[in-house]
Amino acid sequence: MRTAALTTLGCKVNQVETEMMEGLFKARGYTIVPFEEAADVYVINTCSVTHLGEKKSRQLVRRAKRTNESAVIAVTGCYAQVAPEEIRAIEGVRVVIGTKDRGKIVDFVETAVTTDGVLDETGDIMHAEVFEDIPLLAAPGRTRAFLKIEEGCNNFCTFCIIPYARGPVRSRALSSIKSEAEKLVEHGFREIVLTGIHLGHYGEDLSPRLTLADAAQAVLDIPGLTRLRLGSLESIELDDRLLELWARDPRFAGHLHLPLQAGTDAILKRMNRKYTREDFARLFHRLEGMVPDAAISTDVIVGFPGETDELFEEGLAFIERLPFARMHVFPYSKRTGTPAAKMDGQVPEEVKKERAARMQAIADRKREDFAKKFIGRTMDILLETEHEGEWNGITENYIKVYVIPKEGKKLANGSLVSVHLQGVYKDGLRGTRI
Ligand code: SF4
Repeated sequence: MRTAALTTLGCKVNQVETEMMEGLFKARGYTIVPFEEAADVYVINTCSVTHLGEKKSRQLVRRAKRTNESAVIAVTGCYAQVAPEEIRAIEGVRVVIGTKDRGKIVDFVETAVTTDGVLDETGDIMHAEVFEDIPLLAAPGRTRAFLKIEEGCNNFCTFCIIPYARGPVRSRALSSIKSEAEKLVEHGFREIVLTGIHLGHYGEDLSPRLTLADAAQAVLDIPGLTRLRLGSLESIELDDRLLELWARDPRFAGHLHLPLQAGTDAILKRMNRKYTREDFARLFHRLEGMVPDAAISTDVIVGFPGETDELFEEGLAFIERLPFARMHVFPYSKRTGTPAAKMDGQVPEEVKKERAARMQAIADRKREDFAKKFIGRTMDILLETEHEGEWNGITENYIKVYVIPKEGKKLANGSLVSVHLQGVYKDGLRGTRI
């Protein structure tokens, strides 16, 4: 029996793609084993968003080679797409695939077994036109099902390498979204998360043109679906139809992840973000009015080129005003090949670190303030993981809740349970099962 071990770095889209590739290997008779074990094939799905992602990708190749000297090592994903020559040069790599043609990964690996040298299958991504539709061939081993409906990005934010790694927007056909979502519901998934690289542009390349609201409606139409969530999307891409659906259908999770990235218009402009901070604030308050318990989470970059002390303080004060439920804080990471890497006003690393720590302190406080509002309430949580008898899961508005089951009572991951929320605990709340 041949074995394959796959691992993922980076975002949720990468995780979904790894699950799809796992399905392809299983369908061809491979047994999937943990990445730490000896395997005939290793697949490393890489990330290129930061230098750290690239460094980790290289370390994983070396680790796979140490575990089984004669294995076929295939490297795929964003780092492989933007720097195939660096990947080819890592000792032990036999197959390089970028962000397309992953549907053929098993064939590429099997060709590599019978040939010498490195098989490099990365191609031009900037002119890719169609969504690569890889059906789910095996149920993903997780509690929430991430369904990829879109690929690529046309935004070209000045800090971001993703448009060069993923190419232009390509959308999954509505019929394919429906059939994949039906499979996931049949497999017993209680929550489906629609994901993409630039989700808000879903459907703009299709004929007839569709929108994200069409994709969301198609999934909500599936009988048996319990919860639908949207992955990260740009604030300016929320149209009225989508928001109306979000506010009206109780199965639509009251949570939106809208990356703000910076709290001043000067930096937003340098980032090529297409909104002002007041546009963002107006939308935020509109959303609060539509779904009062909703969680709005965000991403913020600190230390972007040109961010002076004054601009940082101004941005911090603006972010203080908005009651985000969660914030992911990133110190700016220079990506070769992006306009921001060549901008003047690069911020020293130690200043970025100090700004990130201050922003993170605000993020921690906001997360706690948001969660505290729900103490005393009873909410459904989707159970995710268990550690030493303590379970955790998330509410529809993305609060992490920890539960210790009563003696003799069993809990199971992937199930929805009603929990009475009692107090702040770790990075969320603790509660007891009703
Ligand atoms: S919207 Fe901006 S940050 Fe997001 S993937 Fe596209 S270029 Fe990158």
